[in-house]
Amino acid sequence: MKRKFLIITAIIIMCIFFSLTAYGAGPAAPVIEGQMPDCYLNMGDGGVTLFTNASSPDGGTLRYQWYVSNIDNISGICAISGAESSEYRVSEAPGVKWYCYAVWNVSGDMESQPVYSRLIRVEFCENNSDHAHKFGSWMVTTQATCTEDGIKTRECDCGYTERAAIPASGHKWDEGKVTKEAADNAAGEKTFICLSCGNTRIENINAAEGEDGGMGHAKAQSGNSSRIPWWGIVLAAAVVIGGGAGGVVIAKKKKTNSIIK
Ligand SMILES: [Zn+2]
Ligand SMILES: [Zn+2]
Repeated sequence: MKRKFLIITAIIIMCIFFSLTAYGAGPAAPVIEGQMPDCYLNMGDGGVTLFTNASSPDGGTLRYQWYVSNIDNISGICAISGAESSEYRVSEAPGVKWYCYAVWNVSGDMESQPVYSRLIRVEFCENNSDHAHKFGSWMVTTQATCTEDGIKTRECDCGYTERAAIPASGHKWDEGKVTKEAADNAAGEKTFICLSCGNTRIENINAAEGEDGGMGHAKAQSGNSSRIPWWGIVLAAAVVIGGGAGGVVIAKKKKTNSIIK
């Protein structure tokens, strides 16, 4: 029992001694002079080489170890076997990984505490024709209004985002209300309100129908919202020129008899 205690005590003393030696008399920690930026590459670019940029403050030798992680956190790093030089070649593989290195300052048979680089994000994106994007559902980024197009986006797992326009819906006018009665010689007004956005639109309306007011009269009478299409006028005119009785009926129906001379 006493012997066991002595052995443990001896081990503890040795540990303290060695760690004091390592901290106190060991080489100074190396200095990372510059950090490698993140890398965004396309498949087919031929991979990428990551570099270290460290120095030893006391002229010692630097020793490296590269690490890889599947998450953006130093806790996820895993040493890459055999990756112990001042640079590391990352071969192509689609997706994102993070890399970092540790560097030690070695002097004789003693080495410093390690210094870790930042996590370098390396992404390879498939841009070749082998990869067909698989998109999620469209997400509305900007809602369309009656007059302005909106924007929708959808994403592929590879990180590619597609944008497309959401067409403006156009105003949805109500049936309109007469806001100013037409007089004999003055046009009246009819106001329409958009059911979506509340915008208003005013149309001129004429005095009582049936009066012979000429072409302008006939046109305005029908109102802009239910304007006789140009082809209706052409059709009616053609039929009348041809002398067909049916033409008169069509023309009457469309209230364009005043157009026809
Ligand atoms: Zn994709
Ligand atoms: Zn509207």
